[in-house]
Amino acid sequence: MPSAPTPASPQTACKSLDDWNEPTHPRRIYGNTWYVGTCGISVVLIATPQGHVLIDSAPEKAAAAVRQNILSLGVRLSDIKTILLTHEHHDHMGGVASMQKATGAKVLSRSNVVDVLKTGKNDRRDPQFNELTGFNPITNVHGFEDSSTIKMGNTQIQHIPMSGHALGGSGWAWLECEKSICKNLVFADSLGSISDDTYRYSAPNSLGVALKESSERLAKATCDILITGHGTASDLLARLDGKKPLIDEKACANYAQAGALRLETRLQQEKNK
Ligand SMILES: [Zn+2]
Repeated sequence: MPSAPTPASPQTACKSLDDWNEPTHPRRIYGNTWYVGTCGISVVLIATPQGHVLIDSAPEKAAAAVRQNILSLGVRLSDIKTILLTHEHHDHMGGVASMQKATGAKVLSRSNVVDVLKTGKNDRRDPQFNELTGFNPITNVHGFEDSSTIKMGNTQIQHIPMSGHALGGSGWAWLECEKSICKNLVFADSLGSISDDTYRYSAPNSLGVALKESSERLAKATCDILITGHGTASDLLARLDGKKPLIDEKACANYAQAGALRLETRLQQEKNK
């Protein structure tokens, strides 16, 4: 049976919460869910007695630090069976290929980006296409239907389609309990309408409509603890360190609303050009 994670001792404070590669110590988020990412990029480990799930990996440059975090919890890398993604940009998942080699885990992906993951090349459907650097190709990738439930032991991880920031954007929702108190955790994808110079969110066939729908979908999610890929978007590390409230059942709705407002502003700017 996979070993249950135990809190790691040395604590390493962050110099910059925007640094994708700066290492920091792992933290318990809630129940058997752990933050094993860097100062700037979230990586989440969901531990179950039947095997563990990892969501995102941070960039390739941070892969060794993320693996070190996992090992420092007493977790065997080979007990990570499944890797899930928020979206196919290298800052969040550039390390997946090497994480996969170290763990033997399979990668489960939205069907619309399986080919992108296998080639390591983003394509023009991505709003930031001209500015992206790609990532190491991933081999063992399996597509799933949107809104699927990924099961690991008794843990059910619900997929929330969140295209818009990227084509394969995904949120993930699951339940964690401490004694008899259970909380709904949501790892929301980015809702940033960020693009290269040529992309128009108002163009037909763009991801503009999808992004709006993603905000609406996230706003409806049952959500006690919001996790974001860039921790600064939800003050995640401050919340995990007890400096701000961790639990806020309005956090997903507020985050969704802020994303929707940014999209409206962006569409207005495109109109005025
Ligand atoms: Zn991104």
